[in-house]
Amino acid sequence: MGDTVDEKDSFYSNAEKYWRDITPTVDGMLGGYGSISNIDLNGSKAFLQKFIGEGEGKAGSSCALDCGAGIGRITKRLLLPLFRTVDLVDVTQEFLDKAKTFLAEDGKRVAKYFCCGLQDFVPEEGRYDVIWIQWVIGHLTDEHLVEFLRRCQSGLRPNGLIVVKDNVSFEGVVPDVVDSSVCRDMAILRNLVRQAGLRIIHEEQQMNFPKEIYNVHTLALR
Ligand code: SAH
Repeated sequence: MGDTVDEKDSFYSNAEKYWRDITPTVDGMLGGYGSISNIDLNGSKAFLQKFIGEGEGKAGSSCALDCGAGIGRITKRLLLPLFRTVDLVDVTQEFLDKAKTFLAEDGKRVAKYFCCGLQDFVPEEGRYDVIWIQWVIGHLTDEHLVEFLRRCQSGLRPNGLIVVKDNVSFEGVVPDVVDSSVCRDMAILRNLVRQAGLRIIHEEQQMNFPKEIYNVHTLALR
């Protein structure tokens, strides 16, 4: 992740180029690891169910936002079954186009499709019970990630929740020149969350993923 304006520009434009060439399938979304999608989604459902539904301090179930949604893999199996309406935001138009058929009948409950980089996206104030951000934060610079998380906080309804689920490195920032992203360690990520004025209220590591991939952590933020 470069520090100059030009390096930042190419960090984003190279990522856009990378994703434009990826087939709009579950396997494409997961870099060839389509087979882990079910384990991922089951883990996410168990995680999210701790925070939504009836009861003191629980998030509502009216509207969720899927950030870096791709073709709507998460929207289809996690968010649409739990929320009345879902919005999707992604920088790749072709994926959002695909989502319209991939989500089938339930896709009628998608209210809005936003084709936009998260670095530029401004969630509508007070609209979302849950903002789900999975496998995309590595595409944002530190500064843009902090600012985006702040805007997400403004986008929450009362008792709303931001969930970040992503790869974490063992130590430091590990760049990926192929898709133009970075993988951060937990200490760095915690620090960025703090800078955004958010608190980690719960954290879990996703179990049963293949040994050769990064550890994946799920963070609930408020
Ligand atoms: N979260 C989805 C997709 C993961 S693939 C899932 O888990 O299935 C990463 C997605 O991030 C791709 O759809 C890609 O188009 C999108 N993306 C990459 N950089 C982005 C950016 N700066 N802003 C928004 N979306 C981005």
